[in-house]
Amino acid sequence: MEYFHSVQLREKFCNGCTLCVKVCPTEAIRVKEKAEIIGSRCIDCGECIRVCPNHAKTGKVDSLTDLENYKYKIALPDPAIFGQFGKTVNPNKILGSFMSLGFDEVVDVALACEYVSLAIKQVLRNHKGVPFISASCPAVIRLVQALYPDLIKYLIPVESPLEVAGQMALDLGLMKGYESHEIGIFYISPCPAKMTAVKQPVAREISTVNGVLSIVDLYGNILKFTQTDKCKPKDLKAKGLGYGWARAGGESLAISCSDNVVIDGIEQVNKILREIEIGKLTDVEYIECWACVGGCVGGPAVVENPFIARVRVRKLAESIGGALDEQKLLEVPPQYFDWQTALKPRQILKYDSDILNAISIANKVQEILDCLPGFDCGACGAPTCRAHAEDKIQGTTQEINCVFQKKESKK
Ligand code: SF4
Ligand code: SF4
Repeated sequence: MEYFHSVQLREKFCNGCTLCVKVCPTEAIRVKEKAEIIGSRCIDCGECIRVCPNHAKTGKVDSLTDLENYKYKIALPDPAIFGQFGKTVNPNKILGSFMSLGFDEVVDVALACEYVSLAIKQVLRNHKGVPFISASCPAVIRLVQALYPDLIKYLIPVESPLEVAGQMALDLGLMKGYESHEIGIFYISPCPAKMTAVKQPVAREISTVNGVLSIVDLYGNILKFTQTDKCKPKDLKAKGLGYGWARAGGESLAISCSDNVVIDGIEQVNKILREIEIGKLTDVEYIECWACVGGCVGGPAVVENPFIARVRVRKLAESIGGALDEQKLLEVPPQYFDWQTALKPRQILKYDSDILNAISIANKVQEILDCLPGFDCGACGAPTCRAHAEDKIQGTTQEINCVFQKKESKK
């Protein structure tokens, strides 16, 4: 299967330093002279964008000129946007600035977070005793599909705020008398993972969202517009708990689940999923996982330091306050929360479908591995000695390129 990827390499900037190789959670990067991303393995978590000192990795998003393709343009700003600006910037003006950017309307995604919180609460109430893993970070979902397929059944089957907000926006456009092809719905995203989730959704064939713009790309204009009188403030639509979703722990707070763990940062998420896979952590009700440190305020396409942004979002949420009203769920058609397609595992390394051939290949890998030092230093351009041995057997690398082996043979 072909996977869409927002995360891409800008080859001319890559100097082959291998820093990205070590942080990739799915071992999707190899460096020969330049880095290469193995498409079947990449989950678009954006970790390699974060560590590359040469900005050789980038998250491909749409641009404001794409708005021209539509008659009625609706912005869906992720709640993480409210952590990006200091206290001189009025949050209502942040929402209002999208009209200055060329949009006709704004749907506050925090409101969709509020609805999704209520839907999750219902699922938890009806499935006591099942440990659920949150399914709002698309990078986490793809990590589960790629490395922990047995855990797919634990992902909470409730559609993400991104898609629920997309449905709400579509309804709004239709209500205004536009046809669906005339309505352009654009998510304002903190990460490439959400761009990929729009172009290749995880639990549906087609997203209701038409495009994705990044917070980092719009930041300068938003800041500029919020300082002008022309920019009219727009009401914040959600309760504080909806805005709190932008930071790790906010989702658990909103669903009032205290029998939970909150994990942020893809490395830690990877570790906890490994633990769950071997049967640990069955005694909690909810496992909230975010690929980015701090949650979406720490996404690779934001501007502000995640720790500062996290505090701002908390303060905003507290200042708005308010409890979620379960009656509000009646405002949204229940099917908006349903996954439309079943999640399937991603086959990222298949030695052979024939078990005997697979054993023979595994033995060959082990033979090579036995001659390698096991330091997993990454100097060969693969993340581990095992990955390098597998590359050799699969023919994706022609020769074993171990610096320690070469040093030994020169003695
Ligand atoms: S986006 Fe994530 S999974 Fe993809 S290559 Fe970069 S670090 Fe690896
Ligand atoms: S934690 Fe949020 S910002 Fe980071 S990859 Fe997941 S959805 Fe995107």
